[in-house]
Amino acid sequence: MFLKTYKVHFTSELKSVFDAMEIESFFFIILKHLHQMKRIDLALNPNFEINEGDLVQWNSILKELKQEKPIQYIIGETEFYGLRFFVNENTLIPRPETEELVDWIIENQTSEIRNQTSENNILDIGTGSGCIPIALKKNLPEASVYAIDISEQALAVAQKNALENKVRINFIKKNILEVTDLEKQFDIIVSNPPYVRNLEKVAIKKNVLEYEPHLALFVSDDDALLFYRKIALLAKKNLSSKGKLFFEINQYLGNETVCLLKDLGFQNIQLKKDFYGNDRMICCNV
Ligand code: GLN
Repeated sequence: MFLKTYKVHFTSELKSVFDAMEIESFFFIILKHLHQMKRIDLALNPNFEINEGDLVQWNSILKELKQEKPIQYIIGETEFYGLRFFVNENTLIPRPETEELVDWIIENQTSEIRNQTSENNILDIGTGSGCIPIALKKNLPEASVYAIDISEQALAVAQKNALENKVRINFIKKNILEVTDLEKQFDIIVSNPPYVRNLEKVAIKKNVLEYEPHLALFVSDDDALLFYRKIALLAKKNLSSKGKLFFEINQYLGNETVCLLKDLGFQNIQLKKDFYGNDRMICCNV
């Protein structure tokens, strides 16, 4: 069958669930995944044919898409900061906002590193797929990078991603809420902890709510900042004197998170918006 013929079927099967742009983007993600072909390759080979075996694969992906399973989980991989990452239901799908956080840290470090002689220790708390520490290590190769997560299954994915991207990360299995000391001084502590309140569930789409790990997403309405408080308290002890704490934050809790850090005595607190104009990240000094 010509792939262009299949595309018509694929599009019509999904059009009651997704808009045309999304369907188009799924189609080209699958084209790359199954046939290692880019959009341009198909344009240059308009009569590209798929065989019976390919058709079975396309149809099985299509079936899962119809159930609104995220494409990243269906094909088991995604891209973050230009790197390839494996993902499954035990890890959040890395978000573009988190790429912006990584970008901010790298920018910060590359401007500071020039005056720095000592080794740089970086810690990511709640690492999930490992996207933050791996992207950091790739771009700050001199740093020693550590990453904590409570979930053994997530850490298995993160390990695989470190191997895939050929970087050494020290992974540690820990429940951060039970940690009293990080046992080392860090120059950067970063975290994208769970921050979505239960009350926000109504606005969350099916693909997130039904498929992504709730452990990595949700916090109770009455103590939404518990991870921030805990991590900030640990940072007070375990950040080096010039060290920096970076957080991805809940866009609705920017001021509250700034206040929490102020109350704990942090300095130079910077609140930064993401690409969409939402309060999304914070950087501060001890
Ligand atoms: N940004 C994610 C979302 O919108 C939430 C990430 C998190 O809770 N740390 O689903």
